[in-house]
Amino acid sequence: MAKLYSHSRLNSWENCPKKFELRYRLGIPEETEGIEGFVGKRVHEILERLYEFVAKDQVPSLRRVIERFDAIFDENYDANRVKIVKDGYDIEYYRALGHRCLQNYYRSHYPFDQDETLGLETHIQFNLDPEGRYGIQGFVDRIVRAQDGAIEIQDYKTGEYIPNQKRIDADRQLALYQIGIGRRFGDAPVRLVWQYLSKGITRVSTRSAEALEQLQENTLALIERIEAADQFPAKKTNLCRWCTYKPLCPAFGASEEAALEKAQELRQKENANQPRLL
Ligand code: SF4
Repeated sequence: MAKLYSHSRLNSWENCPKKFELRYRLGIPEETEGIEGFVGKRVHEILERLYEFVAKDQVPSLRRVIERFDAIFDENYDANRVKIVKDGYDIEYYRALGHRCLQNYYRSHYPFDQDETLGLETHIQFNLDPEGRYGIQGFVDRIVRAQDGAIEIQDYKTGEYIPNQKRIDADRQLALYQIGIGRRFGDAPVRLVWQYLSKGITRVSTRSAEALEQLQENTLALIERIEAADQFPAKKTNLCRWCTYKPLCPAFGASEEAALEKAQELRQKENANQPRLL
């Protein structure tokens, strides 16, 4: 069976090999999450649920959508686990960000009949090489048949940063999903669509067959480099502000042994919790 990589796992390597080592090589889970990721998850859950209702011809009101968002926000929020990193921002700012994302989307798509939903949170998995050594997996937020017959692979973004078209055209994630979807929905042209919800902006990109082939090759080569790596240098960037691994990171004063000890401690705990055979 292929060893599976996701877009976020590849990103983790590119952003900081040390973080990749701690998370994926040593298997140390992240103990906290950033509020931005927390809001993103809640907005995704609400939009998935919204389209489930749309499929039953029961379009909920915007007020009901926001109430439901607030309910799952409060149910899931734990101040000890969800971290606000940016100075001067509080929890109500992020709640309002979620509201804004949903309001923008709802108002521009109501009554949700401009296209046909073909899949929600659709699991994608495919092998990158013919031997099946490595594969890619991920989830597409929404797959759509548009009015012109094209298939759209749609992704919701809740962050405030909007990349320019050049970056969008070089984005790896949705193009990998296009490879994974292949001809599942026939031979119709495929569009990659990003919904930047906080500002109500949509970005679109298309890829040629050659570009997808090249991407597949490049991704396989990247994974081969990662698999062969024996050095995992810390890469200090602005992203360190959100990194849950700082206490284990040599770039922030931790010893090289700290992470190994933590991984060993977790393994021992896991073994102790395994049911014993009589
Ligand atoms: S704190 Fe920064 S340098 Fe250290 S592991 Fe995290 S992202 Fe990498």
